[in-house]
Amino acid sequence: MNLTALTIDSARSAVEERKASATSLAEAFYAKISSDDPKIGAYLTLSKERAIKKAAEIDTLAQKGEKLPPLGGVPVGIKDVLVTKGIRTTAGSEILGNYFPPYDCTAVARLESAGAVVLGKLNCDEFAMGSSNENSAWKPVHNPRDLSRVPGGSSGGSAAAVAADMAVAALGSDTGGSIRQPASFCGVVGLKPTYGRVSRYGLIAFASSLDHIGPLTKTVKDAAIVLRTIAGRDPMDSTSAELPVPDYVAELDTPVKGLKIGVANEYLGEGLGAETRSAIEAAIQKLASLGCEIVEVSLPHTKYAIPAYYLVATAEASSNLARFDGVRYGYRAENVHSLSDMYRRSRDQGFGAEVKRRIMLGTYALSAGYYDAYYLKAQRVRTLLTRDFEEAFKKVDAIVAPTSPTEAFKLGEKVDDPLAMYLADIYTVTANLAGIPGISIPVGQTKEMLPIGMQVFGKHFAESMILRVANAYEKAA
Ligand code: GLN
Repeated sequence: MNLTALTIDSARSAVEERKASATSLAEAFYAKISSDDPKIGAYLTLSKERAIKKAAEIDTLAQKGEKLPPLGGVPVGIKDVLVTKGIRTTAGSEILGNYFPPYDCTAVARLESAGAVVLGKLNCDEFAMGSSNENSAWKPVHNPRDLSRVPGGSSGGSAAAVAADMAVAALGSDTGGSIRQPASFCGVVGLKPTYGRVSRYGLIAFASSLDHIGPLTKTVKDAAIVLRTIAGRDPMDSTSAELPVPDYVAELDTPVKGLKIGVANEYLGEGLGAETRSAIEAAIQKLASLGCEIVEVSLPHTKYAIPAYYLVATAEASSNLARFDGVRYGYRAENVHSLSDMYRRSRDQGFGAEVKRRIMLGTYALSAGYYDAYYLKAQRVRTLLTRDFEEAFKKVDAIVAPTSPTEAFKLGEKVDDPLAMYLADIYTVTANLAGIPGISIPVGQTKEMLPIGMQVFGKHFAESMILRVANAYEKAA
């Protein structure tokens, strides 16, 4: 049995049936990490002591012949923007280089209560700002499919770890595509739930009205298992929804025959790479062959999504990141001569270039005299984008779209052109602005064997629907 290639169910069953102990499973992953991660760079911190302790607990249950919880013994990795008690959490930034949080993020706590074994913290773009993982203050991540290419971002470490068998599943965060796009680049499944579906308590904030936590996994079923575990109301996050959590796993195999699947021309226009286009078209055909009805829909405000996103995201970031002042958290500059000098130098030395760029953009967009012209206008566009989806979902059950215009690009290819990097987020930011759920699944590869991903979007809280469609595709492919 290749222990590191297992899915959630197969790993859990192996432990429950005592074909492998949870401890040996964790050890197998650590061995894989020490042999392969030096060339990939997915992990920033390993939490071996905590992992082995949890694995031993699970082994005790298994030895007693007890039924294991849904993730019993399953090794997972956590994006380094999710706080973990006593385990260094940096958000990919030097300003938090020595930060050991005093509490656990709700999503992590829920995974562990369901039996998961947390292997460590995964590399990401600094404060989740980026699309290539090249903005990490620590090191870049290399795409396991081709080490000269980026894994996508900002959850690049999460996607690479799952793709390279260095975690069964991982948690990521998605503010404008950061779960779905790296999933697409690395050939794994990535799910961004509805806004409010998963508590954000313990997620280091980038843009609070756009931030989401979700799973990166090897299969659609695994994504359903993780979502079922982490979803649901949390008194610690007032924006978490008061709704019951459906059994996503039980609903996965409900047939998709007769479902109406929307396709929007706005997502298939200029800028879409030829190989990505043909993979998406073939995937749409596959859904049609499963009995889905393909319906054309229109999302006319899509062309305004990038400017709206980069205004709202930077505005919120400039406010959220004000808390990093050298007083309360992390890095404090030395040899300062006044309080304001200490603020200024701590932030100057602690933040990287992209984070500073966004703080400046956001501060500008929120400043008196520009607020109405930029921030308020962006919020209005956001409403129009949300209405586009509402109209479309009157006609269809789900909408499919490419995840990214192209496959993974080369490391260094876009670092000097932030605008080109921003524009490539065109297909993912809309779901964050509207708050609707989206999942990216692998639907093919280029001639150079680089993965191509397709998204499935649903109405608010229709995660069951998109998981069903994604699962039907995955099974048929
Ligand atoms: N690439 C987008 C950005 O740089 C999205 C990031 C994210 O989802 N965290 O803002």
